Amino acid sequence: MPAAKIPATLIPGDGIGHEVSAATVEVLAALGAPFEWETQVAGQGGIDACGDPLPPDTLASIRRTRLALKGPLATPIGGGYRSSNVRLREEFNLYANLRPARTLIPGGRYDKIDLVLVRENLEGLYVGFEHYIAIGDDEHAVAVASGVNTRAGARRATEFAFDYAAKNGRKKVTIVHKANVLKALTGLFLETGREVAKKYEGRIACEDRIVDACAMQLVLDPWRYDVIVTTNLFGDILSDLIAGLVGGLGMAPAGNIGTDAAIFEAVHGSAPDIAGKGVANPLALMLSAAMMLDHVGMQDKAKRLRDAIDAVLCKDEVRTGDLKGKATTKQFARAIVDRLK
Ligand code: NAD
Repeated sequence: MPAAKIPATLIPGDGIGHEVSAATVEVLAALGAPFEWETQVAGQGGIDACGDPLPPDTLASIRRTRLALKGPLATPIGGGYRSSNVRLREEFNLYANLRPARTLIPGGRYDKIDLVLVRENLEGLYVGFEHYIAIGDDEHAVAVASGVNTRAGARRATEFAFDYAAKNGRKKVTIVHKANVLKALTGLFLETGREVAKKYEGRIACEDRIVDACAMQLVLDPWRYDVIVTTNLFGDILSDLIAGLVGGLGMAPAGNIGTDAAIFEAVHGSAPDIAGKGVANPLALMLSAAMMLDHVGMQDKAKRLRDAIDAVLCKDEVRTGDLKGKATTKQFARAIVDRLK
């Protein structure tokens, strides 16, 4: 009997979003994933379609489906509209950003990487509570940003990390902070994380690390880490660093998990430098789709997809340009579909 249809929102996104989304949807169809897509726009695509970077129809669709696969959304730098990604996380209370990174192609500079970063997704300096103070005729003489962390926010993010560790056979959670300087803002995160850790004593080890030392150790000896949980801005930066350990942004998937919905997306952005050329690596979004399959309880299909990806990369050696291969986005997707057959 065919599996029941699962309504899901698809936001192809901006720039390379269209290319990597089309490739991912093709692969999911070949896998027999029963998603029934509602295609919507956001970001620059929303502006172009209806003058709104987060149109009401898009929000209504996710409210209905509570599940989305999202391509990257462009955000103007230094001005313009507020990030639709940040607004989506806020709108649907997506408090934990789960970012696993695993070596897919052995023999690189870093081998056998298997790390998970959990980023608090709704608080901290990343919320962008900012303003300028004018002095004389200089409107931008002073810039002020406020970070907000709450005990409740720190608790649900760190609980998510420990719970994930316990359910996925992980051994250790490292709480990453800057509590030596930002004593209140990130001290509260650390204090709360340590409280949560007590509930997992004897099952999951807990340590903490200052973010700058963590960045250095991730470069020198990433294997010492297992699961990292950290605040929003540090998580944003460290997850790109971790993506670099496994071959770059083209390899890094993410799941934004919350009480009201879950949105799966690649860590990378809209890559305007290669958009429209058909050369983007669709792996990050495909791996995000595998996380989405796990989320809806289809671990068997998620495994088949990951196995096909491993085979295409390592046995068939079909790879996109960022991985020093020659395949286009479409050729890479076709190779995965062939493996799934
Ligand atoms: P980016 O991730 O788009 O690109 C950084 C570099 O990585 C570029 O050289 C790009 O070509 C390369 N790259 C990224 N994804 C790739 C892929 N799949 N295959 C091959 N190469 C890839 O970051 P950026 O240039 O700083 O940002 C561009 C836009 O994307 C900005 O508007 C930014 O706000 C937005 N952005 C969106 C998200 C999101 O939607 N989650 C995340 C990050 C950035």
